[in-house]
Amino acid sequence: MTDTRVTFPAGAVEGRARVLDVVDLGGGRCGVVVDQTPFHPVDHTWPDQPADSGTLAGLPVLDCLVGASPAIDEADADPGHRWVVAGDIPARRGDPALTWGVVHVLDAEAADRAGITRGSEVELVVDGDRRRRLSRGHSACHLAALALNRAAAPLWSKDVGRRDGLGSPDLDSLAIVVSRIEPDAALDEYRLGKSLRKRGLATTDLLERLPQLQDEANELLSAWTAAGGHAVVDTGGDDRLVARRTWRADLPGGQVAIPCGGTHVTDIADVAGTRVVYEPTDGGFRVLTTVPPEV
Ligand SMILES: [Zn+2]
Repeated sequence: MTDTRVTFPAGAVEGRARVLDVVDLGGGRCGVVVDQTPFHPVDHTWPDQPADSGTLAGLPVLDCLVGASPAIDEADADPGHRWVVAGDIPARRGDPALTWGVVHVLDAEAADRAGITRGSEVELVVDGDRRRRLSRGHSACHLAALALNRAAAPLWSKDVGRRDGLGSPDLDSLAIVVSRIEPDAALDEYRLGKSLRKRGLATTDLLERLPQLQDEANELLSAWTAAGGHAVVDTGGDDRLVARRTWRADLPGGQVAIPCGGTHVTDIADVAGTRVVYEPTDGGFRVLTTVPPEV
C-alpha cells in the first residue's frame, strides 16, 4: 500500500478516491483512509492550519488527521488495527518505514450504513469557502512573517546566518513557538530568549519599539499586496501527503520560499488589506494578522 496522494497543494477541493482502509477510532468514530484526497489534514508535528471540513460520500467529515501504519502487506486481511493517528504517531513526519495516510473522520454508524469499506469508490468534497478563507489566512501569515523579518532587521548586531528570501535575518523562523491559521486570519507567538540575544538581536529594543515595527510591517504589507505577485505551493513533483512542500511567492524584492504544508492563494494581491497587530507577551510578543473578508 502506498501513501495517500494529496491534491490540496494545487488548490483542489473535489475528487474521487478508492478507500484503502477504514479504521476504528473509538467513541463512535471511524477514520477513512483513501488513495488520494483534496482534504488538507491538520499536521501532527506543526498543527498550524486546521483540517478542512466537507463531505466524504455525502457524509460530514468531522475531522481530518494524519495517520501512519507499518507498510502493509497486501495479503493481510485486516490491517486496519495497525493505524495510529495524529499525536499518537511515534515517528518523525515522513519516516519511510511507515505508510502515511490522510484519515477522514466520520461517524462510524453512518459510514457503516453507507457501506464504506476497503475498496469502495467515494466522492470527496471540501467546503471551498472555508478553504479559501484558510488559504488567505495562511498566505497573509507568511507575508506577515517576511514583513516582521524586514522591520526587525536593523535590530541585529551580528550576522545571524539564517536569512529569508528577501535577505532579512529570519527572526520568524528563529523565534516562532506557535502558529495558528484561521479563516482570514493568523496568530503567531514569538519567544525572545537568551539565545536570540546571544545571536545579536536587541530584544529589549525590539519590545520597546513594537508599535513602530508594527507600523513598518503594515506599510510593507500594503506595498507588497498592492504590487501583487504569483504564488504557488511547490511539491517538487511529489504528490504524497508527507512530501516536503515549499510556498514560493514573487514579491517586489524577489522570490521568497518558505517550507509549508498548507494551502494558499495564487496571487498575493488576493490578501490585499492584510494588517498586523503586535502585542507583548510573557517572554516575547504575538502577531495577530487579519485579512478583510472577501465580499
Ligand atoms: Zn505555511
